Amino acid sequence: MKRALVVVDMIEDFVHQDGALYCGPSMQRITPVIQHELARARGAGELVVYLTDNHLPDDAEFQVFPPHAIVGTKGAAIVPEVAPRAGEIVIPKRRYSGFFGTDLDITLRERDVGVIRLVGDCTNICVLYTAADARNLGYAVEVVAEGVTSFDEEAHRDALRELEKTLGAKIVHA
Ligand code: ZN
Repeated sequence: MKRALVVVDMIEDFVHQDGALYCGPSMQRITPVIQHELARARGAGELVVYLTDNHLPDDAEFQVFPPHAIVGTKGAAIVPEVAPRAGEIVIPKRRYSGFFGTDLDITLRERDVGVIRLVGDCTNICVLYTAADARNLGYAVEVVAEGVTSFDEEAHRDALRELEKTLGAKIVHA
């Protein structure tokens, strides 16, 4: 069973301090971990997939969170620190889960991927709900503990516990 590295929402609006919905200083801590994971996955010939928030200007999510990652804006772009290489897959999404209304599932299945390894943000939002859908669809899930974070440290810790204890994800280290 092949494994894919799935990089969640490493976009300008979340990663950089001047972004529309800055996720906080812990983004600086996870960035080198994600760079390390990218180097490892690329070296091992593993599939690399990027999920990116990509909202309509009046997206329903903005009833819950301030506007961010609007289609076509700089804020929705992947940060250069972890930029995709030619041929790597970028899947835009409008919901927390990278599987909802996207072709992530068929993209993985077509390549015989059975295990996804998650890094990025936020642990308690897009990482958690992407992992939940992955488990519902039968994928094994790994979450790199030092490679995920949230603006809410307590929610981050709760989500890691939920990922492990309820969803059966494997919490791994880079
Ligand atoms: Zn969003």
